[in-house]
Amino acid sequence: MTQRISVRTTSRTQFLDITHEVAEVVKSCGVSEGICTVYVPHTTAGITINENADPDVVRDIVDTLERLVPRNAVYHHIEGNADAHVKASIMGSSVTVLVENSRLVLGTWQGIYFCEFDGPRHRQVYIRVS
Ligand code: ZN
Repeated sequence: MTQRISVRTTSRTQFLDITHEVAEVVKSCGVSEGICTVYVPHTTAGITINENADPDVVRDIVDTLERLVPRNAVYHHIEGNADAHVKASIMGSSVTVLVENSRLVLGTWQGIYFCEFDGPRHRQVYIRVS
C-alpha cells in the first residue's frame, strides 16, 4: 500500500532531509524485507540521496544546479519556472532504498532529500514498501 507524507517548503529552493519520515513509514508498514520506493509526484520538485553529515554538500549541490540552470536564463516555458522543471528532472522523481529488518539500508552518511525548486509550497511524497 502506498503511504503519503506531506512536506512544507519555506523557500524557492530547498533540500529537506526526509529520511526520518520515510524510516517511520517503513517501520510501521509491516514489510520487514523488501524495497522502499519514494516518489515525488511534482514537476518542479525532485528527490535524491546524498550526504547528510556536512550541510555544505547540499549547499554545493544547490549552487551547482543554479550555475548550470540559472533562474533568469532564456527559456521557452512561459510560466517563469522553467529552471525548476529542468532541475527537478536532473534530480529525478524517485529513489529506491533496500529494506532489511524494517529499516532503510542507507550508508552512514546518506540521507534522503526532498528537493524543492519552486517553493514555498505544500508538497506530497509517496512511499511504498514491497
Ligand atoms: Zn511550469
